[in-house]
Amino acid sequence: MGRTLTEPLVERMRAYGTTIFAEMTALAQQTGAVNLGQGFPDTDGPNAMLEQAVDAIRGGLNQYPPGPGLPPLRQAIAAHRKARYGLAYDPDSEILVTVGATEAISAAILALCETGDEVVLLEPYYDSYAAALSLAGAVRRPVPLRPVAAGGRFAFDPDDLRAAVTPRTRVLLLNSPHNPTGTALTVDELQTIADIAIEHDLIVVTDEVYEHLTFDDVVHVPIATLPGMRERTVSVSSAGKTFSVTGWKVGWICAPAAMVRAVMTVKQFLTFTHSGPMQLAVAHGLLREMEWVEALRSSLQLRRDRLADGLAAVGLDVHKPEATYFIQADVRPLGLTDGESFARMLPHDAGVVGIPTAVFCDDPDVGRPFVRFAFCKRDDVLDEAVGRLLAYAGRRR
Ligand code: PMP
Ligand code: GLN
Repeated sequence: MGRTLTEPLVERMRAYGTTIFAEMTALAQQTGAVNLGQGFPDTDGPNAMLEQAVDAIRGGLNQYPPGPGLPPLRQAIAAHRKARYGLAYDPDSEILVTVGATEAISAAILALCETGDEVVLLEPYYDSYAAALSLAGAVRRPVPLRPVAAGGRFAFDPDDLRAAVTPRTRVLLLNSPHNPTGTALTVDELQTIADIAIEHDLIVVTDEVYEHLTFDDVVHVPIATLPGMRERTVSVSSAGKTFSVTGWKVGWICAPAAMVRAVMTVKQFLTFTHSGPMQLAVAHGLLREMEWVEALRSSLQLRRDRLADGLAAVGLDVHKPEATYFIQADVRPLGLTDGESFARMLPHDAGVVGIPTAVFCDDPDVGRPFVRFAFCKRDDVLDEAVGRLLAYAGRRR
């Protein structure tokens, strides 16, 4: 297909229209549906952190910050990672501030993958991964996550992972805690991945934006803490989910200096740098607001349970997540097979928006029966959504 004035998009991006999140949020606005689609909270981050950003703007921090990020934020990221996980990173050479985790991932893939390199990733996968690989001309090799039992957690089969690795594999692109399944990879699962990465001399890029949002007694384990992994791992995180400021788009990577230099080489021409006032406020957050984050975690767990109970009452098969903002609901108990057509009909017929899991998959079978619902919303919003779904289910009977 040639490019024309009316079809100017390059071939490698033609598979990507509008993101599913933008599409479903627009649909929620058009139909007046309750939006349990796009994962953003409907309450604000810690007040003192918001004030820090305002003060920084009023105080004149309004010109370009240094490309790698403001030193106080890089120091706060280093202190946080050391205190929480025992991982030491040099703030000057091993940490890079990015425009959200999204830029971190795209810059890392563009920096590390040659055209034709293969990247192994867990499927369903966060939507930006596929696009980042296409931009880089890299090839995705998905490994499915499937429920281990009805209503159970989603896990991968180690044999599938081994089979996905070939001599062309360059990167293992992980995401734990995992969007959209809510799985937090266990130490055993991470060790399986680490063994494969070391055996095949692969780089691991790991997206850990939900690192603090784990439930019950589940703890997040960064793969960089496993023996032999720090030197081959680019760890990505972001302030958006941790501090309920998804619109701030402050992210970062922690990695060995050579990898940070590589990612920085690309990142400096994508955006060069990111908003100084927000960076300073996130430094405050990492140093002073972790108690607030703990309270957020507990409150999210209650809201997870509230929405899980509601969806079960509607008749869906609910997979309670170990972490994240999201629940997977299986539509098959309603006598349906296809979660995507259910999710696309729901805003119109029930007044609720969810995200079809199939859109995060290459293999349509992996995601087909599932819809992702976000519970990072106020109780009254969750109750309204459940009420509408119950009324809809009643009408179907
Ligand atoms: N990775 C995952 C798994 C996500 O769910 C999201 C959305 N928060 C992102 C990356 C993007 O993060 P950011 O908004 O910091 O770019
Ligand atoms: N991470 C959010 C989600 O999974 C969406 C972010 C976006 O809209 N790109 O819902």
